[in-house]
Parts: sequence; structure tokens; C-alpha cells
Amino acid sequence: MPLLFDAHRRPLRSLRLSVTDRCNLRCAYCMPEEEYRWLERAALLSFEELARLVDRFLALGVTKVRLTGGEPLLRRDLDVLVAALATKPGLADLALTTNGLLLAEQAAALKRAGLHRLTVSIDTLDPRRFEQLTRRSGHDALLAGIEAARRAGFRDLKLDTVVLRGVNDDEVVPLLRYAQGIGAEIRFIEYMDVGGATRWSRAQVVPRAELLATVAAAFGPATPLPDRDGAPAERFALRDGTTFGIIASTTAPFCASCDRSRLTADGMWFTCLYATQGLDLRGPLRAGASDAELEALLAPRWQARSDRGAEERLALHERAPFAPLATLQGDPHLEMHTRGG
Ligand code: SAM
Ligand code: SF4
Ligand code: SF4
Repeated sequence: MPLLFDAHRRPLRSLRLSVTDRCNLRCAYCMPEEEYRWLERAALLSFEELARLVDRFLALGVTKVRLTGGEPLLRRDLDVLVAALATKPGLADLALTTNGLLLAEQAAALKRAGLHRLTVSIDTLDPRRFEQLTRRSGHDALLAGIEAARRAGFRDLKLDTVVLRGVNDDEVVPLLRYAQGIGAEIRFIEYMDVGGATRWSRAQVVPRAELLATVAAAFGPATPLPDRDGAPAERFALRDGTTFGIIASTTAPFCASCDRSRLTADGMWFTCLYATQGLDLRGPLRAGASDAELEALLAPRWQARSDRGAEERLALHERAPFAPLATLQGDPHLEMHTRGG
């Protein structure tokens, strides 16, 4: 039962918890630069601090938590955090989004620790293209990671693919077939002009309508499925029952039903992916704030929330990357890899 509603009557229900801003890839749509300013190590919240904040969010009605980053599997002993969160009363859904490179080593431990669901990002089936897109090697590790996740027993595995025109838009059908073959549900994500996407251009966005047309040409028309319930992906079914999703944040944003917020690894809380101001929770936490005092910071912030970042971006006539490089260098909290995608 949601307890808090924002200014547009949207409930506070889901939290994306970034456990690190570091990453072992440099995806062109997320981290295209050579150098980054990282969060200070001393500022990173400990597992105890993260768990305490999660408790405050659960007390305010959050029921879904997704661990993310950066690359969350780079955070040492992540399974210990998962184990601390997985059994919390009120937490109906504990998920993790990863680029998969370290999953072969960690999938079994994450499953044992009680992680409910996994989403793995995969943008290409071609190892050479993977290296061009991410400026790192590791496509074999990614495929091995997906296989290990299945072996570990993650049943409703999801795959996420950001589709970029001229880069991997010819792989929509092969990737859907790959997902079909391993019994995973793939979601195609429109390229977003979020903080960090400094090379974004409208021309490289492959819109929802085109993605659906590509799928229909190969598999026949897809039927929309009804149960969206605040989730970012619109889901569809093919004639043989295969399901897939589209996250059309750029051409058809879902701000109207957005129930999620983001906590960075150093304790800044953002109520929108495009928000420029966060609420510092680390300061009060380390200064000894009580549970009630922390909740008294969070609740009014959500109640005052009127963010509709992606809709506002869509309304712009001239659309350039959200934050110029100099601004990002001045404040890493604006980066997608810091606030947790
Ligand atoms: N490193 C992990 C991964 O890649 O799965 C988790 C963090 S990453 C920031 C989370 C998601 O954000 C990934 O699925 C990634 O593809 C997506 N993402 C990053 N930049 C994006 C952009 N400019 N447009 C759309 N999705 C983006
Ligand atoms: Fe790629 Fe995820 Fe790393 Fe961003 S955080 S560069 S999307 S792997
Ligand atoms: Fe939610 Fe902001 Fe994304 Fe809109 S842009 S869906 S309000 S996080």
C-alpha cells in the first residue's frame, strides 16, 4: 500500500540504489569520455548505512529496490548487502541491473543471498561491435554471465538493449531471437539524452514505432500487454507467446506514472533521472539523525515532487545533450553512471 504521493498523485514505490559509480565498461551512450571525476571513497555509504536508509524508504511505502551503478558487481561483497536486504519485511521485489561481465563469478552467490530478479544489459551479439561500443573487451564474459545466471536459477531473466541508429539497430531481430532462445525477456530502450550521454543526437534515437515495425516485419504484429503498473517498459507478446518490452523514454515518456527515485552511492537522493538537485542523506545519517528525523526529510521531499523530466525534454524544440561536459565535470552526480540508470 503506497503511503506517500507526490504533487501529481504518483506513489513512492520504487528505489534505485546505486552501490558504486565505477564501471568496467565505457558504453558510448553512457560514459563516452576519457576521464571521469569519481565519488570520494570515504563518502560511499557502507552496507550498514545503505540498509538503514532502505529501511527508512520501506517505512515510507517503498516495496521495490533495484541495485545498480555504475557496475554494481564491482562493489566488493555485494552478496552480503543482498542478503541484508532480501529478507526485509515489506520488500516485495529486490532486483539488480548489471552489464554481466562479473556475473559468471557472482550469480550463484547472489542467488544464494536471496536476490529475486536480474536484468543484464546486452547491446550486441557481435564481440567486435561490443568492443567498439564499450571500449573494453568482455563479450565472452557477458555471455558466460548470462548463462551462469540461468544455471543459478534466475528464472525471469531480463535483458536490456539500448538501440542506437547506425550502431546496433540491425540487431533488434537477432537479439530478440537470442532472448527467445534462452527464455529471457528483452527490452529495447530508446537512446536517452541523460546526463553523461554527451554524444546524444536525435538522429541516433530509434523510436518505439520503428522498433515495433522492425519486430512486426520479422515476427508478425505484436500485441500490447496491459499490466504496466508504474514499470518503465511497455510489454508486448508475439504470436508464439514470446514477450518483449520497449522503454520509450525519449519519444513516449512515462513520467505520468513514475513511482521511482534514485539514491547515489554517496547518499544523494534524486526524485527524477533529470533532477539537478538532490537531497543529501549522508550528512544527516552520519551526524546521528534518528529514523524519524530521516523519514521527516524524505516524506516532504516526495510530497512536493513535481518532476516530469523526460516529458519536459520531449517538449523542447532544440534538443541537445542534457548536461554539457563542463557541467558534468563540475558535478558527477549529474552522470547516469553515478545516479544509477
Ligand atoms: N552498469 C549496469 C548496466 O549497464 O546494466 C547498470 C547501470 S547502467 C547506468 C543501467 C542502464 O542504463 C543500462 O541498461 C544502460 O543501458 C542504461 N543506459 C545508460 N545510458 C543510457 C542512455 N543514454 N540511454 C538509454 N539507456 C541508458
Ligand atoms: Fe555501460 Fe552500465 Fe557502465 Fe554505463 S554504467 S558504461 S551503461 S556498463
Ligand atoms: Fe520518472 Fe523523471 Fe524518468 Fe519521468 S524523467 S519517468 S519523472 S525519473
